[in-house]
Amino acid sequence: MKTPLKGVFNGAFDTVDNIKISPFSRAYTFSDSLYEVVPFFNSTAIAFDHHIKRLEFSASQLAMAVDLKKVIFEINSLITSSEFSNGYVYYQVTRGVDPLRSHIHEPNLKIETFGYAKAHLFQWKPLRVSVCDDIRWGRCDIKSTSLLGNVMSMNAAKLDNCDEVIMHKDNLLTEGGASNLFFVKNDSICTPALNGNILPGITRALLINELKNYNIEVIEDNFRLEDLSNASCAWLTSSTKGLAPISEISNLESHFDLYHPLFKKSEEIFNKKFLS
Ligand code: PMP
Repeated sequence: MKTPLKGVFNGAFDTVDNIKISPFSRAYTFSDSLYEVVPFFNSTAIAFDHHIKRLEFSASQLAMAVDLKKVIFEINSLITSSEFSNGYVYYQVTRGVDPLRSHIHEPNLKIETFGYAKAHLFQWKPLRVSVCDDIRWGRCDIKSTSLLGNVMSMNAAKLDNCDEVIMHKDNLLTEGGASNLFFVKNDSICTPALNGNILPGITRALLINELKNYNIEVIEDNFRLEDLSNASCAWLTSSTKGLAPISEISNLESHFDLYHPLFKKSEEIFNKKFLS
């Protein structure tokens, strides 16, 4: 029998199946919610403070009064009480339950929180991806659960046997459907510069910082689709993928070197610091 998934809802720890949510929760009616995915390795959260800071930023943008101490306590409890040592915690913060569905929320609603821990291993898996128009809103720097643009594009790509998408707005590269993009062009590691169209990925920031410690520069700039199609290798980063190399871009007919020295070096540096 499968062990039931354990979670925490509004501070009460229970199996996820026992959690009851109101249909007037604004998570349900408006996706008026934020989230974080915090990976842990050997029962220790990776870059926990970065995740909390990003949640604090997202909450400030939505004017949600989130009790960060409670969030930290609950995420830590999910990690320490889990039966596995490698995995991630999904943690969501919702504005609360409104008495009536209305775009304008009642003032001072009680923040609703939900989290669970899931076993997960970082696996080396080359990705087949496709490029697509970035159809999302202009505040993708907020880590909100409103992800319909990502959901539509990734499911359309799945029909072409792709694992992920790389999005662009008017030919300017933004990011993956659930990841950030890196590629090597003219022997330099490049990544799109942060703006409102990109989630400031924690894995992205950790990698850039760690490479800097080895005097390897990452160029953060505005890059175009042509820069990617002419790249010699490319990879995506996220808290659950780590660094995942891209084997091909199906609709550009680009094939990449999975063993490029700059990718191997990045992978080695990242794994040594965070996964060993
Ligand atoms: N961009 C998007 C749209 C994402 O959903 C994610 C993963 N949540 C990322 C980038 C990567 O962020 P992180 O490294 O913090 O997981």
